[in-house]
Amino acid sequence: MIRDSYWLDMPYTPTDPLSGEIDVDVVVIGGGVTGVTGALFLAEGGASVAVLERREVASGATGRNGGFMLAGTHEYYVEAVEELTDMYGPDGRELAREAWMIALENHDLMAGLMKKYDIQCDYYRHGSYVVAMKRPDRGSHGVPMERIVQSYHLLQEDGFDVEYLDEERLYGLKRSPLLAGALWNKFDGELHPVKYVRGLASAAKGLGVRFFENTAVTGVERSGSGTGRQEGADGRPGKRKDSGLLVHTANGQIRTQHVLLGMNAYTPQLDARYERRIIPHRGQVFTTKPVTERLFNGVFYANDGWDFWRQLHDGHGEGGRLLYGGGRNHHIRAERGFHFLRRRGRPFRTYRGYKERPTQAVQRSNDRSFNTTFPHLADLGRSHRWGGVMGFSYDSSPFVGETETPGVHIVAGFTGRGNAYATVAARMLSDRLLDRPSTVEDQFETVKKVFDPLRGGIDAENRRR
Ligand SMILES: Cc1cc2nc3c(=O)[nH]c(=O)nc-3n(C[C@H](O)[C@H](O)[C@H](O)COP(=O)(O)OP(=O)(O)OC[C@H]3O[C@@H](n4cnc5c(N)ncnc54)[C@H](O)[C@@H]3O)c2cc1C
Repeated sequence: MIRDSYWLDMPYTPTDPLSGEIDVDVVVIGGGVTGVTGALFLAEGGASVAVLERREVASGATGRNGGFMLAGTHEYYVEAVEELTDMYGPDGRELAREAWMIALENHDLMAGLMKKYDIQCDYYRHGSYVVAMKRPDRGSHGVPMERIVQSYHLLQEDGFDVEYLDEERLYGLKRSPLLAGALWNKFDGELHPVKYVRGLASAAKGLGVRFFENTAVTGVERSGSGTGRQEGADGRPGKRKDSGLLVHTANGQIRTQHVLLGMNAYTPQLDARYERRIIPHRGQVFTTKPVTERLFNGVFYANDGWDFWRQLHDGHGEGGRLLYGGGRNHHIRAERGFHFLRRRGRPFRTYRGYKERPTQAVQRSNDRSFNTTFPHLADLGRSHRWGGVMGFSYDSSPFVGETETPGVHIVAGFTGRGNAYATVAARMLSDRLLDRPSTVEDQFETVKKVFDPLRGGIDAENRRR
């Protein structure tokens, strides 16, 4: 049994680290789905780009997730409507509808990139099932069916292609006696996240993007006065004439006009202003030994998303191993990256959850819930167990745009939905840097309001789980 990600368990040769000094238009920090997609879009637009990754491409959450491509934020649709109404007023329903539409745009952009660059990444579009369990688990909605049926009606009214499946239709299909019903989002999909992102990285290299792996950024500083005018010339990122940025690493540095922080959960480690905006949470997963038959297609989301599973397409013939994740609801404090505690009346932080090693406690919880969900598979051996660190925002929406430091931009805070928002967000930001009309912002006016990179200050601490 391997204690690391199944997706990362394949041969890979990283690039050399940065050494010496170079000059590029944009430095991307972080080689996950966000950073690599952003670098690719920027290079397509003619910018010179360097990607700095402290380990290897896709070694963060991108190489450790479930590979689900789900539309929308992690709440039930009805809850997203309620929460957004609560936070943003009567536009809440429209904002929720747009959040789902933007994720669908994200899906199409990803599928388009796979096609354009011929990336083979086990992509399938069999839909997702948001299931109601007969015995809802701790921390999830006591009457999940009610919320699922409400969501189904709202989604239908808002024009989404969804279906409601009752227990009878589900059982034959899904092989668990515990599922009471489900919302079937037919438009959702799944992929091998590492094959996908490494495919994008190869495409980006083909367009001249320079990757430096095993290269941690230690600081970003402004050089010059910082008052320069933003000039978007000939499709290249706008230059600030009399100022720039200097990106530091252990053995080299890069002069640049723009920095893209694609570090998601790790952003606060480099920019303390994001400590209260992005909260790291660890998620844990295991895969089983391969099963020879195909048990089911599509991806499953249960107990308000605390638990999730799918069958991979990695077997000979029809079968494949099962991937199962969750269990955070039983160990919330341990799985949260840092905590704000008080000592003698003063707040201070403790860091815990940046460790990716799987823990016995959560893996046991996952084993237990897997075995009760699939009693006939309880003897199935495990092949890999791992953890990964996600970046949660307080309202489930990402931060996209320029930070308080001119020229330093952020794309982060996906709240467990990087495969739903990172691509569209990277597109939005690269369009801005390339000073060209945005296919995203033209379609979805409200993203400016919801994706505001500076929102959520000190008091907005972690309304999320
Ligand atoms: C268990 C689990 C299951 C999940 N399931 C899903 C799912 O099914 N669907 C979905 O949409 N999302 C899922 N997610 C969330 C998803 O994985 C993330 O939202 C997404 O991968 C974020 O991508 P990213 O590129 O922004 O961040 P990351 O992939 O975390 O990349 C950030 C990179 O920055 C690098 N870095 C950090 N600091 C520095 C530095 N100082 N210098 C240089 N590099 C640095 C890191 O090494 C890392 O590679 C899941 C996450 C986990 C952990």
